[in-house]
Amino acid sequence: MKIKFVDLKKQYISIKYEIDTAISEVIENTAFIRGENVDTFENNFSKLYDNFECVSCANGTDAIYIALKALGIKPGDEVIVPAHTWISTSETVTQAGGKVVFCDIDSESYTINTQNIEGLITNKTVGIIPVHLYGNAADMENISDIALRNNLWVIEDCAQAHLTTFKDRLVGTFGDIATFSFYPGKNLGAYGDAGCVLTGNVKLANYMKMYARHGGLTKGEHVIEGINSRMDGIQAAVLNVKLKYLEKWTEMRRSVAAKYLQELADIPSIKLPAISSSTNSSWHLFVIYSDRRDELKKFLSERGVETVINYPTSLPFLEAYAYLGHSSVDFPVAHEHQGKILSLPVYPELKDAEISYIASQIREFYKK
Ligand SMILES: *Cc1c(COP(=O)(O)O)cnc(C)c1O
Repeated sequence: MKIKFVDLKKQYISIKYEIDTAISEVIENTAFIRGENVDTFENNFSKLYDNFECVSCANGTDAIYIALKALGIKPGDEVIVPAHTWISTSETVTQAGGKVVFCDIDSESYTINTQNIEGLITNKTVGIIPVHLYGNAADMENISDIALRNNLWVIEDCAQAHLTTFKDRLVGTFGDIATFSFYPGKNLGAYGDAGCVLTGNVKLANYMKMYARHGGLTKGEHVIEGINSRMDGIQAAVLNVKLKYLEKWTEMRRSVAAKYLQELADIPSIKLPAISSSTNSSWHLFVIYSDRRDELKKFLSERGVETVINYPTSLPFLEAYAYLGHSSVDFPVAHEHQGKILSLPVYPELKDAEISYIASQIREFYKK
């Protein structure tokens, strides 16, 4: 058997007619930048999220940058981010003039360890960016309490967490602003780059709308200096088709994860993702721990199963952050994490037989 890590072609085939029609309409109407499709997407995404304001932008990294600017980040301001996430979460803080302060992750949820946050707060701290990593919710109850007590803002990085809930409430609706990515491989993926910010605060929404479009909402108007970060018409058209299926596809991912948990339960040598009663994960990734991770990855690859390491180096240990002078003892959980994690294929189209095959290969590996 050959099993890809992500198989975007299978999904395309299942909705080919709708996608092809939507894309050719954009071309016919030459609605390349913004236009009706973009407005429709913002409205529909907003409806999905309790009518929060949705402002589209060019990608999920810009979304974080735009959110930081809207919250008024100033040079030297400190922002607390988890030690293990995709680099967008931290590089945008630096881009916006802030100072990155890493916080270790929790050994069960793999999201920011809320026990460690308050110890990192100084008189320069302005905010926290929890990341709902792998689709798993960060503890938004503790984070909201900490933010309130210390007068900090919260940006939720929801790039991997479309439709994830924490205590039956959608993540993205807890913080001041939430950011989403629609990178093709994300749970809701465009056919190129796209992203958005979400907020319940109309003032912040209006600022972000302007900021993402050269500082004005109409041609010729520039209230402030902004940036060029727009969603294009073709991406919005694709997302409008796919948004209708998001709930169904998320449920299918949840079934895939449930099947993995069942099939892998009898292999004591691997650690499975922890299931918390507070979280209903979007299962962007299904991440297992193995003491022999690299060997297991190679074995699975030889048996036709593609796996990925998300991510091989936790942020504080990257060359890009050498200037902070951190070592493994500063973030013991993130350090163990980077050495053991392995992401197995997970997507709605993954068949039971394929999951069983992957599980049987992992079982065989441990028999050697
Ligand atoms: C994908 C991702 C982003 C950035 O999204 P892009 O659209 O690729 O810019 C930000 N944060 C996390 C956690 C991500 O996984």
